[in-house]
Amino acid sequence: MDVKIPCLDLYKQNQSVKDEIFAVFEKVYNASAFSGGPYVEQFEKDFSAFCGTSYAVGVNNGTTALHLAMLALGIGPGDEVIIPANTFIATAWGVTHAGATPVFVDCHPGTWEIDANKIEAAITPKTKAVIGVHLYGQPFDIYAVQAVCKKHGLLMIEDAAQAQGALYDGKRIGSFGEMACFSFYPGKNLGACGEAGGITTNTEAYYKKLLSLRNHGSTVRYYHDEIGFNMRMGGLEGASLSVKLKHLAKWNERRRAIAERYHKEIRNPKINMQEQPANTASIYHLFVITTSDRDGMINYLNGKNIFPGLHYPVPCHLQKAYSSLGYKNGAFPQAEYLAAHCLSLPMYAELTDEEVGKVIDAINAY
Ligand SMILES: *Cc1c(COP(=O)(O)O)cnc(C)c1O
Repeated sequence: MDVKIPCLDLYKQNQSVKDEIFAVFEKVYNASAFSGGPYVEQFEKDFSAFCGTSYAVGVNNGTTALHLAMLALGIGPGDEVIIPANTFIATAWGVTHAGATPVFVDCHPGTWEIDANKIEAAITPKTKAVIGVHLYGQPFDIYAVQAVCKKHGLLMIEDAAQAQGALYDGKRIGSFGEMACFSFYPGKNLGACGEAGGITTNTEAYYKKLLSLRNHGSTVRYYHDEIGFNMRMGGLEGASLSVKLKHLAKWNERRRAIAERYHKEIRNPKINMQEQPANTASIYHLFVITTSDRDGMINYLNGKNIFPGLHYPVPCHLQKAYSSLGYKNGAFPQAEYLAAHCLSLPMYAELTDEEVGKVIDAINAY
């Protein structure tokens, strides 16, 4: 029997850096630097340098990053924030947790990214911001979204949870919006040994606000100037991220090489892939394809010991949690098509050339 090829195998990545990470865990342990502290501060320096931003703020997960970004922008009850209907639900949570209302728009039929041409129709007097999502690791059309935001006086935020190191117009994402929100969930391209997230920005005022909000509304210990949260990043998480960040460029390159083979060698008219605009370089957090009989294809691949993922089977506007917003099936045809027809091929840096070949052969024989 063949070995199974999953959508993602974290074990191999974590084994490859185990000694390095255990060595730094010992340092964190001996310093008892578990909550915030020097290892988080070091990672913040490392990550802002990586993104080319003035500041990075480490928090406890990516959902928090989005939530605090909204609060730092002064977004709250009565405000609306435009987001794509096809994203991981946490993009919407950030808006809802701040007390504002997410307003969904459809995606572009080719790139599957937020469709800049659909934003204007969703703007109301209550609209304050647009969150674009770099979906599956590929940057959205930042300049097109920025142009709409500029015209209507809206703030633009990047949900960069899936795109650490992706390029737009030759530059790493993370500095195009007012802020960019990252997740370092273990399964992301840069994933902590634990839960973690972060926000990058070039604006000092946002930076200071984020530092206060994540730490009980306090900058001087036991003096609380505003209602705050305990949303700090842990020291073990920060230390593991600094170690993994050193490997990220190499891991992203390997993912690009695998994606290039998928693009070149998969020859099957029954499937479609995400369009790649010339001014973007994806980091292939996920390699998503669409096909008319998605469930049939998954069954077929499972029979060949290949186990694709689903990202995501239900678009945000049709999730039960948001039924009170009143969206109906048919509201966003592109996002709904994607949800019903997508599957994610195996994609992680440790896939062997042989495994990649097996996936390609299986799909070409379908
Ligand atoms: C993972 C993810 C988040 C949330 O990050 P967590 O660390 O899981 O809270 C937000 N947005 C997108 C697009 C994501 O993929």
